[in-house]
Amino acid sequence: MDKRVYIETYGCQMNEQDTERILRLLEGSQYLETKHAQEADLILINTCSVREKPEHKVYSALGRFKRFKEENGAIIGVTGCVAQQEGDRLLDRVPYLDMVIGTHAIPLIPHLLKKIEGTGERVCEINFNENGTYLRTPLPQSSLAKVKSYVTIMQGCDHFCSYCIVPYVRGREKSRSSVEIIEEVSHLAEMGVKEVCLLGQNVNGYGKGLEEEISFTGLLERINEIRRIERIRFTTSHPKDLSEELIQAFSKLKKLCEHSHLPFQSGSDRILKAMHRGYTKESYLEKIDRLKEVCPSIALTADVIVGFPGEEEKDFEETLDLLKKVQFDDLFSVKYSPRKGTRAAQFQDKVEEKVKQDRLSVLQEIQREITLQKNQALEGQVEEVLVEGCSKQSDQDVTGRTRSNKIINFEGALNLAGELVPVKISKAYPHSLRGEMLI
Ligand code: SAM
Ligand code: SF4
Repeated sequence: MDKRVYIETYGCQMNEQDTERILRLLEGSQYLETKHAQEADLILINTCSVREKPEHKVYSALGRFKRFKEENGAIIGVTGCVAQQEGDRLLDRVPYLDMVIGTHAIPLIPHLLKKIEGTGERVCEINFNENGTYLRTPLPQSSLAKVKSYVTIMQGCDHFCSYCIVPYVRGREKSRSSVEIIEEVSHLAEMGVKEVCLLGQNVNGYGKGLEEEISFTGLLERINEIRRIERIRFTTSHPKDLSEELIQAFSKLKKLCEHSHLPFQSGSDRILKAMHRGYTKESYLEKIDRLKEVCPSIALTADVIVGFPGEEEKDFEETLDLLKKVQFDDLFSVKYSPRKGTRAAQFQDKVEEKVKQDRLSVLQEIQREITLQKNQALEGQVEEVLVEGCSKQSDQDVTGRTRSNKIINFEGALNLAGELVPVKISKAYPHSLRGEMLI
């Protein structure tokens, strides 16, 4: 008889992709996904600690699930960054928790589950696996097929930006072999996936440490050849490592979408130095100019942090100046939040919470206006849209994305999902577009 797994996922795309990997692994152990924790035999909380204080959230989720342990005998586990950081402490604090699975231990889940089912033993597995085999991912079954899919090409990071927890909870950079990645993308294409987004903290580092000699652009070239894949995206490229070869790929590779997510974090050279980012405002702007020269229609998005320790008003002004100069299509802006164990958490010159909040509001207001203007400039244009499914607002409408990754809604039937269709943009909003299909 099939069993049911419920996974609650926090955080970024990387974590969502880990959830998908776990689901694929568990399919092999006869666990099917359920969206209802009350009917699950296995409940997992997949945690992220990059931007938020996650421990509190995890303990409160565990509190919510306690009764499913008592009433249904569900097995309960924590995976992801918090599992990696807290390890045995989680088992000590939560007596009904059965397993703690670190970021490199995902492939062990089926084996550990058998152990728990057989012996009732509680397990904690948080060792780093240095050979990269933890990145192996089972191919998806058809039940998990979608129009677009993320594909993890590497994990971990060697950069050690002073604010960031990633190198500590995900370990050093490790790439998956190109053979494995191509096999996965080809399989997804056979299942009807039209768009892949390649994931890594620093995709420019792809290939380092592999036996084969391959760069990230080399990998893109090979994926560009895969039949039935219509669109390729990737995230994230570190500005310091964005190579001319990769910039050129935006004009050479037909399937590579005209969108680059290039986090800058701050516009102040002094703060960039304290963040240990390895570039200046000027060199960042030079890369942006190159991207615009090579691919004039490119859409640009980025991450920015406000209120990093020591950030003064003039540093913040530099950040505002940078975003006005670049004219990003969208921006993911957050307040700095200290992460235990990182260097910046020790920095003394903290910025007051109210100042951080005020700066964030000012920045977001400016960006809202820029985003709206960028969207309005598209009114009247025809864009190729990949239809993803039914729109949230109306069942007469479908939703999809342009090549520049903008959300667009228009009247159409659900069987258009997976099709590439021309859509004329009729109205721009701050977070989406409205259009009319032309066929
Ligand atoms: N590797 C990418 C890069 O180099 O820009 C970013 C990956 S990071 C996991 C995702 C984003 O989380 C960062 O771009 C940064 O804006 C944000 N972030 C990371 N640590 C943070 C912190 N301590 N406080 C606030 N935001 C943080
Ligand atoms: Fe974190 Fe910096 Fe690595 Fe990005 S490059 S994951 S911000 S340490």
